[in-house]
Amino acid sequence: MAEPRAPQRRAQAAIAAELAQIGFALPGSLVSRTTACGKPGCRCQGDPPVLHGPYLTWTRTVNGKTVTRKITEEQRVRFQPWFDNARRLRQLVADLEALSLQASGLEGDDQRQRS
Ligand SMILES: [Zn+2]
Repeated sequence: MAEPRAPQRRAQAAIAAELAQIGFALPGSLVSRTTACGKPGCRCQGDPPVLHGPYLTWTRTVNGKTVTRKITEEQRVRFQPWFDNARRLRQLVADLEALSLQASGLEGDDQRQRS
């Protein structure tokens, strides 16, 4: 099995250096949503409906379930870098795994499933 080549080592070191610099990282995503409340006579039930919001919602997965909560614009501004960090973290992990797969030389040895 081949040792990682110099460019692969440099790429790994660059990923490791960036990982070491990442600060707090919040999972999930922010989405702006409008909603209908379901109260009879509310403007959101009108014709045409005038929906509530838009509200900023933070959606993430907790124990395999999707959890959503509203956040304020102030919170969004404050935590945007944390969300950005989490996204960057996922990208770096994906890059490191792809690089490692390449460096290992194992990639071509995958056993094919018979169809
Ligand atoms: Zn309503």
